[in-house]
Order: sequence, then C-alpha cells, then structure tokens
Amino acid sequence: MHRVVIVGGGAGGLELATRLGKTLGRSGRARITLVDANLTHIWKPLLHEVAAGSLDAANDELSYLAQAKWNHFDFIYGRMTGLDRRRHVIQLAGWKGMYAPGEVPPTEVRYDTLVLAVGSVCNDFGTPGVREHCIFLDSRHDAERLRREMLERRLAAVTEGRSHRLRVAVIGGGATGVELSAELCDAQRKLAQYNHQQGAEDLDITLIEAGPRLLPALPEQIGASVEKELRNKLGIRVLTGTPVKRAEADGLFDAQGNKIDAEMMVWAAGIRAPGFLRELDGLESNHLDQLLVRPTLQTTRDDDIFAFGDCASCPLGGDATGNVPPRAQAAHQQAELLAQNVASRLEGKPLRPFQYHDHGSLVSLASYNTFGNLLGNRVIEGWVAHFFYASLYRMHQSALYGHWRTTRLMVGGFIAKNTRPLLKLH
Ligand SMILES: Cc1cc2nc3c(=O)[nH]c(=O)nc-3n(C[C@H](O)[C@H](O)[C@H](O)COP(=O)(O)OP(=O)(O)OC[C@H]3O[C@@H](n4cnc5c(N)ncnc54)[C@H](O)[C@@H]3O)c2cc1C
Repeated sequence: MHRVVIVGGGAGGLELATRLGKTLGRSGRARITLVDANLTHIWKPLLHEVAAGSLDAANDELSYLAQAKWNHFDFIYGRMTGLDRRRHVIQLAGWKGMYAPGEVPPTEVRYDTLVLAVGSVCNDFGTPGVREHCIFLDSRHDAERLRREMLERRLAAVTEGRSHRLRVAVIGGGATGVELSAELCDAQRKLAQYNHQQGAEDLDITLIEAGPRLLPALPEQIGASVEKELRNKLGIRVLTGTPVKRAEADGLFDAQGNKIDAEMMVWAAGIRAPGFLRELDGLESNHLDQLLVRPTLQTTRDDDIFAFGDCASCPLGGDATGNVPPRAQAAHQQAELLAQNVASRLEGKPLRPFQYHDHGSLVSLASYNTFGNLLGNRVIEGWVAHFFYASLYRMHQSALYGHWRTTRLMVGGFIAKNTRPLLKLH
C-alpha cells in the first residue's frame, strides 16, 4: 500500500494527517503515518499564553496517539535527523525514556510520499551570547521553562523576605514579542491577586526592536496604536531602532555599546527552519534553511517529497511576488491544498498550485486589547478584533476535532475556567 509519511504534527502537519487519515487512511487507499518529536500537540500561537501561565498547556494539548486512533493514521514518536532519497527512508534519532530501561536505537521509516512540516526555530542571527543567555519560544518546553523560572524567581524573593522588581527584556517587536510582553504584564497583574507580597508593578518589561517601529509586517497605524497602548496602558518600555549586538548573563548591549539591564531575556526576533534541513540529502534550501518548494508544494529536486508551513520557502502564487509568510494561517491553507494534491498524486491526476490568501493579521494584547487588519486592510480593534483572534484557534480545533466536538470543548473550557485560578501557579 502507498505509504504517506508526514514529519511534524504542528499547525499544518497535524491538520494534514487528520484530513488524509479521514479520507485515504479510512478507505484503505494509503497508509498515513505521522512522525513527531513530541507526544502531544499544542498550537504554537498559544505559546506566549503558556509562557505567561494564562493558559495551562495540559488542558489544551492533544495526544497524537489518540488523534491517530480517531482519524485512521499511525503515529511514530521520534525526531527526524536524516533522509536517504535513493532508498526512500527517513532516519529517526535513537532516544532514551525517563524511566524505562535501555535505549531505543536509531530507526528508519520508509515512505512513498514524504511531507516535511517541521516548523521553525528562533533565529539568533549569530548574535554572541544569545544561545547561552536568552530563552527562546520554540516549543511548549521553552514556554513552560520561561513561566516556571519567572514563578521561581518570585517565590524565592517572597521566601527570602525581600522586595523584588523583576526585569525582563523581550527582543523582537514582531507579533510574538508584542503579544508575549502584553501577556507577561497581564499575568503579573493576576499574580498579584494570589501573592500579596508581589504588586502588579513588580515587573519591568523592556521590548526591543531593531527596526524603526513595532509590528513591521502590519500597517503602520496598527504598529503605532499598539506601541502607544504598550507604553501608556501597560507601562512597557519600548525601544525601537535598537539592534541587539550581544547578550550577557545580566543584560544586552546595543550597537552603541549601551547596556540594557535584564535578569531574564527572551529572544523572539525572527525565525529559521531547523538546521537538519540544510541541504538534506541534496534537497534545495535557502539561507534560512527552508526547503525550496514549487507551487505544488513539491520540493524543487524531488517530486516524492513535499514541504510546507514555516520550514518551506514557497512562492505566494498567482500574480504576487514574494514568499508565503511563516504563519499558522498559511500552514492551514497549505494543509488543505496538500490533502487534495496527495490524493491526486495517488490517482495519477495533475497537482494544483498553491495560492496564498492573506486574510489579515491580528495581535492580542492579552486582556487589554486586540488590534488587527482584516480583508482589504480594514483596521479593527477591541472586542471585534478579539472575536476574530479567538476564532483562529477555533478554526484549527475544528480542522482537528470537527465542529461539534470543538463546540463541546469550548463549553467545557468555559465552565472549567471558573473552577481554576486565573493563572497557572505551579
Ligand atoms: C508565540 C507565537 C505566536 C504566534 N502567533 C501567530 C498568530 O497569531 N497567527 C499566525 O498565523 N501565526 C502565529 N505564529 C506562527 C505560527 O505558530 C507558525 O507559523 C505555525 O505554527 C507554523 O506551522 P508549522 O506546521 O509549519 O510548524 P509548527 O506548528 O511549529 O509544528 C512543527 C512540528 O514539527 C515537530 N518537529 C520539529 N522538528 C522535528 C523533527 N526533527 N522530527 C519530528 N518532528 C519535528 C514539532 O514538534 C512540531 O510539532 C505564532 C508563533 C509563535 C511562536
């Protein structure tokens, strides 16, 4: 039977595995296998909420094994490290569990059609000290680490009976850096309700952007409104036109050698694809290690290998020039097309080209406000913007669970909210 292997069960890969499982897998036309380095999926755009503690990942994560069972695909737990195109196999690293004795040796998985959807990691642009001293926001583990470290620093101050104003620097004034800064501020306000030795003002956030303004990918008006809100309402120090040149244990240095003091530093200034994709068995990649793909989402040098989402460099399609941006909505649209293209490939039919439809962007400032632009660059804010922002995640859930189950999850989540603290406190 034709074997379709999808590597990476993120925003795009899990939607694709689910769609293909429900169609080709269920009817026995192909065997669908998903490989991921983790056992559970959490939608990456939620990571800043996990980092702040406003969302408990344990309540929103989805088990790959369960999703596979419900949707007629197989799941393999493993991290892809290599590829042998001649033999049509991918290589997975060996691993050792926390408790079970012995090690699982490196293994190979055979494919007829391979789809790579391994996402992206933070790009430190080779800035000295960043790897050693900054926290990234690449995975649930990173987000949990950030949250836990902030909590422990606060608990330590309380136990030792000293007052403590925590200084956090967030590097990168794009959507991730902006949303994280706002979410951390909001979390501090909520924390103060549980921990009376800590006030809402005991957090000092500096948001640093190399370019002249925040949110360079969004209209200038949104960038300006967001900056005003962050400065005036949330008390965040915003530094634009400030490229970070070096990180040390207790702060960052700009191009002029000025020091920005910080106890914790979070790097959110751009992305690149995971390093193992660089010239992976002769596949073509760009300077960000993204695999180059044609409009059909097939890699430029191998018809049997597709790539999409953040790890692929894909033309926008139609008359537009440029590449598809690394966004969840792009991964979602590509997963929809790929589900059709993989089926067409099996039937020997021609594949359709991808065309990106930009439905706009939304930036959430936690419970303070939401800004964005929707179709036709119409700028919106407030509850209307928040409604559309929240519906993005609901769309992802619908693609995974279907509408009826998503509705039940929403209702269940709403009820459970009133029985839990406002913030994850452990
Ligand atoms: C804090 C934050 C907020 C964001 N907000 C938004 C937003 O509001 N709107 C928006 O459109 N986009 C947003 N994004 C971007 C969005 O999350 C990504 O564009 C999207 O997740 C990309 O989907 P993907 O399927 O390509 O990769 P991912 O969703 O990152 O999934 C990659 C998967 O591959 C797995 N994997 C990685 N390497 C390997 C390997 N070697 N072997 C096996 N498995 C592997 C990972 O475990 C993961 O499950 C945000 C990103 C962040 C970090």
